[in-house]
Amino acid sequence: MSQRKAVALISGGLDSMLAARVIMDQGVHVEGINFFTGFCVEGHTHAIRRKDRSRPKRNNALWVAEQLGMRLHIVDIVEEYKDVVLNPAHGYGAHLNPCLDCKIFMVNKALEWVEDHGFDFIITGEVIGQRPKSQRKDTMPVVARESGADDRLLRPLCARNLEPTRPELEGWVDREALFSFTGRSRKPQMALARELGFYDYAQPAGGCCFLTDEHYAVKLADLWASRHRRDYDLDDIMLLKVGRHLRPRPAFKLIVAREEGENNFLRGYRKRFVHMEPVSHPGPLVLVDGEPGEQDLRLAARITGRFSQGRDAAMVTVEVTDRAGTRRTFEVPPLDAGDVPREWYV
Ligand code: SF4
Repeated sequence: MSQRKAVALISGGLDSMLAARVIMDQGVHVEGINFFTGFCVEGHTHAIRRKDRSRPKRNNALWVAEQLGMRLHIVDIVEEYKDVVLNPAHGYGAHLNPCLDCKIFMVNKALEWVEDHGFDFIITGEVIGQRPKSQRKDTMPVVARESGADDRLLRPLCARNLEPTRPELEGWVDREALFSFTGRSRKPQMALARELGFYDYAQPAGGCCFLTDEHYAVKLADLWASRHRRDYDLDDIMLLKVGRHLRPRPAFKLIVAREEGENNFLRGYRKRFVHMEPVSHPGPLVLVDGEPGEQDLRLAARITGRFSQGRDAAMVTVEVTDRAGTRRTFEVPPLDAGDVPREWYV
């Protein structure tokens, strides 16, 4: 029998790493696939902010592939994925996370890849009961069916709690050597990791995806409400990850850098936004998103002053640059702390 080939969905977390390794250990040729949605937490945000400086700046999916000695295919799905986020047939989880539709979509994309590359089946690191919506015993068959993968989708970590799949029935893998993990506890996975000699892996705490983050979901919903349409592009979703976001008026929002790394990042966007910077005192770069009128700009300049080191000065000078690159300065009294209501923070 020629060697069978599988593609493993690699998120960068522990479960998918273990699932791929278990199948590799059965003599199957495994390659990884990682889908870039733009909502991933790791990498980008950690690289910008100082508070995460102690964490390794690595792409966990690439790192996992390296640990496993496996090829990894990173596939950009930003455009196609929009429909999943905007119109999830199975609805959202606790926030704006369309997890069930997301799983169906990704397994379907993996299926296309498998068919194009002459591979035999798909592996995921799913565990029954690990996630309340997308990883339940009753939703597992939904993913298999609606993705079109059917019995070519194997979940090695919980396979023995599910109907046998084609790789098991055909003897490509030994079902007895697969697992029956269930529930939210990660202890069985950690024990298996130790057994396989993995001591360093991405911690799942904090989530892998901004769509499960309450604060991020509120900002995304605010973006849609302010534009009167549910849509986004990659830059929109990147900018929601950075800075303080304040909406003092419906017509505009401010994105205020919190530190040097964010300042540098936002500077890359300054030609696309009206932006402000205090010139009389050190302070943050502020992007103004929306259609601010003259009074709005004065208010924005006062808020910019509030976040500058001139917050206690009588006046601050703020340089405002419009999208055409024309500059002018506003001399304004910075707002007092009490004049920045909590409700302005998105
Ligand atoms: S957490 Fe994000 S990436 Fe993971 S299944 Fe849900 S929507 Fe998809």
